[in-house]
Amino acid sequence: MTSPKHTRMLILGSGPAGLSAAIYGARAGLKPVVVQGMQPGGQLTITTDVENYPGFRDVIQGPWLMQEMQAQAEHVGAEMIWDQIVDVDLSQRPFRLTGDGGSQYTADTVVICTGAQAKWLGTEGEQELSGKGVSACATCDGFFYRGKKVVVIGGGNTAVEEALYLTNHSDDVTLIHRRDSLRSEKILQDRLLSHPKIKVLWNKQVERFVGGGDPEGLVGVDLVDTVTGDKSHEPTDGAFVAIGHKPSTELFDGKMTLDGGYLVVEKGTSKTEIPGVFAAGDVTDKVYRQAVTAAGMGCMAALDVEKFLADSDYEASKAAY
Ligand SMILES: Cc1cc2nc3c(=O)[nH]c(=O)nc-3n(C[C@H](O)[C@H](O)[C@H](O)COP(=O)(O)OP(=O)(O)OC[C@H]3O[C@@H](n4cnc5c(N)ncnc54)[C@H](O)[C@@H]3O)c2cc1C
Repeated sequence: MTSPKHTRMLILGSGPAGLSAAIYGARAGLKPVVVQGMQPGGQLTITTDVENYPGFRDVIQGPWLMQEMQAQAEHVGAEMIWDQIVDVDLSQRPFRLTGDGGSQYTADTVVICTGAQAKWLGTEGEQELSGKGVSACATCDGFFYRGKKVVVIGGGNTAVEEALYLTNHSDDVTLIHRRDSLRSEKILQDRLLSHPKIKVLWNKQVERFVGGGDPEGLVGVDLVDTVTGDKSHEPTDGAFVAIGHKPSTELFDGKMTLDGGYLVVEKGTSKTEIPGVFAAGDVTDKVYRQAVTAAGMGCMAALDVEKFLADSDYEASKAAY
């Protein structure tokens, strides 16, 4: 059996949080190792136009931005490993992690940047039209629908917040919900139901996202009434699927405190409850969920790691005398 690969700073995930942590960690001389996971580059690799990442006047492409971040991290000395962590033992130091296929890793510090995934409906046309009118992020894509008609699908807090946010760009927002009442907080419901730019289609489920035009884009959604079974069509320029997010934290279930599935960190830091284990990005953020906030948190994590290791080294050197 080959001996485990040891590193001072092991980063799980190669989205904006993981790669920013890697850039800062490498520049601090920590020789970070990034285990990239099944989606190298993270969520931005499945989108097209990104218009809100600072530093670029023109619209840039998500996959390109992530390639650049990775190239920068490698350039300053971070190592990328194409593997997925399938088991962690954070009960002893060094921490022990196992990759898919059995590779073993040990680490003095671990930075968890495993992100989150938007939940999708799994309905016909959704995947094909993703980025061409179908989106899961109003903050990211709402701007592209200025003066256009949009629909939001869902009935919880996420959907109501997305619908309210979209009224900043669109005068014609329709919430489509499969039940006859909303699950969101009362105050949000009141705001939504009294909003002049929003109408609600109750008891309706999306059967199909319909594309058209050249180049192809979303032109509408086919609906079915969940009570009567009646079919209808709602024309729209954009559809926002807002049925929630799922943080990628299965690995830590039962091993760390989770809040609604999200990793819990000490306020204003990236420190988890386990000394030497840090978390950054969407995996710990149920509110902002943006590339730039994830990158910022990755930076914080690297600075927290640096301080943690410096303090640990200091304690160890004191103990040696
Ligand atoms: C369609 C879409 C469009 C978006 N558009 C924008 C936009 O325009 N602007 C914006 O700011 N934000 C946008 N976002 C949000 C943005 O992508 C996220 O906020 C950001 O990617 C979060 O970064 P992260 O590093 O925390 O996690 P993620 O990007 O989710 O990356 C998670 C990483 O963890 C890895 N991983 C998971 N599990 C494991 C494991 N067990 N072992 C090792 N690695 C693992 C994955 O492979 C991945 O590399 C968009 C999101 C989507 C889905």
